[in-house]
Amino acid sequence: MKPTVAIVGRPNVGKSTLFNRLIGERRAIVDDTPGITRDRIIGETEWRGITFNVIDTGGIEPYSEDIILKQMRRQAQFAIDMSDVIIFMVDGKTGLTDADREVANMLRTSKKPIVLAVNKIDNISQQAMIYEFYELGLSDPIAMSAEHGTGVGDVLDAVVNYLNKEGINEIEEGTIKVAIIGKPNTGKSSLVNYILGEERVIVSDIPGTTRDAIDSTFEFEGIPITLIDTAGLRRKSKIYDNVERYSMLRTLQAIERSDICIILLDGTENVSEQDAKVAGYAYEAGKGCIVAVNKWDAVEKDEKTADEYKKQIEEKLSFLKFAPVLFISAKTGFRVKKLLETVLYVYGNYTRRITTGQLNDVLAEATTIYQPPSDKGKQLKIYYMTQVGEKPPKIAIFVNSKDLFHFSYQRYIENYLRKTFDFTGVPIIFLIREKG
Ligand code: GDP
Ligand code: GDP
Repeated sequence: MKPTVAIVGRPNVGKSTLFNRLIGERRAIVDDTPGITRDRIIGETEWRGITFNVIDTGGIEPYSEDIILKQMRRQAQFAIDMSDVIIFMVDGKTGLTDADREVANMLRTSKKPIVLAVNKIDNISQQAMIYEFYELGLSDPIAMSAEHGTGVGDVLDAVVNYLNKEGINEIEEGTIKVAIIGKPNTGKSSLVNYILGEERVIVSDIPGTTRDAIDSTFEFEGIPITLIDTAGLRRKSKIYDNVERYSMLRTLQAIERSDICIILLDGTENVSEQDAKVAGYAYEAGKGCIVAVNKWDAVEKDEKTADEYKKQIEEKLSFLKFAPVLFISAKTGFRVKKLLETVLYVYGNYTRRITTGQLNDVLAEATTIYQPPSDKGKQLKIYYMTQVGEKPPKIAIFVNSKDLFHFSYQRYIENYLRKTFDFTGVPIIFLIREKG
């Protein structure tokens, strides 16, 4: 399970410079959203063999001059709730400011491990500038320069040291990790509360848990299932909850940590762009997907209503054709048991392994029924397929030419596989390899 490290601090201290240095060329999880100054705010990095996510809190909302302090408080609170270690960055050139003191107070009372990074110490002669930051009463200030790279290793050493010592919010192996995701007000907290009220909760006391958000594990039909808490799912934060980007970040983090995503829709409303966006993240992350249409108790319906709603889902969430759709009510508990049964079922598919022999029998059948395409006298040859990974299933396909392996034929092969083996709820990833 990957821990999270957040960088907080005043505007212009150098947070994004450090962030970019840490993330480098790696793909950031967040793609760009219009109206946001920085598109990359969460990404993965590694130091001394430990992989962790880094969040640049400065990238969450663009600063507006008059409410900087308010925004900083929001960012700090978010970092406190969502991360395992916080890098608090100050500007050694400017020196200590009141805003630094204010944020330091919040961080200090949070009991989160804090690494105090004094940036813009560009050469040794400026080293003495760090001493005034002892006043903040946090850990020892560490001199660094995000621009030149000096001291960054010391900061990361301190971060990793905490990650090692504290242990992170480890979820025990052997449980199915489920994230309940969806736009605000679809009933995520209600669903979590309903499930935890009904099922036998396994009290797990993991020592050294640093995250405030506690994942809840319960047993369903003898199998442990862990609901990933997105901090504030059950305890909502007044401080930042109504800024959309924060909830998106929380969602992304929950998706990352899950095996199965329950994509919750509000049955009293039409399927929206925002639903599609959330669902898209789960799909792109390669998670098992279940669509649950909530508040079905409040929908006036006849025998056609469910089918009509399913049509909407097929249209607007067309990339999730493989996902089962359930109509539920978190309020009355209607079909919540069925939903949990579906979690077990999809997890079975998610972890499925198919032998190379089986795969190639299917391939032979499929290519006989519908010949591979050819172009300019050259025909696509599919030599063989083999499963190279699971969670989700990854299948390497060896072909004579990638170009000839059109999307439509890939789709055909995928559908054929789905017809033969049950991959309900599971994206299948094809890795296409050319072989001479
Ligand atoms: P953020 O608002 O905290 O994310 O700050 P930025 O990363 O955007 O940096 C603000 C300014 O400080 C930019 O002009 C950077 O080039 C500059 N800066 C960042 N790190 C350093 C550093 O180590 N030394 C110096 N001298 N300038 C830096
Ligand atoms: P969240 O923002 O996704 O966590 O949504 P909440 O769980 O806070 O629910 C939002 C609102 O929808 C609350 O007023 C709930 O009482 C209501 N709600 C949640 N689930 C249901 C349901 O199954 N049926 C009905 N009628 N209302 C629901």
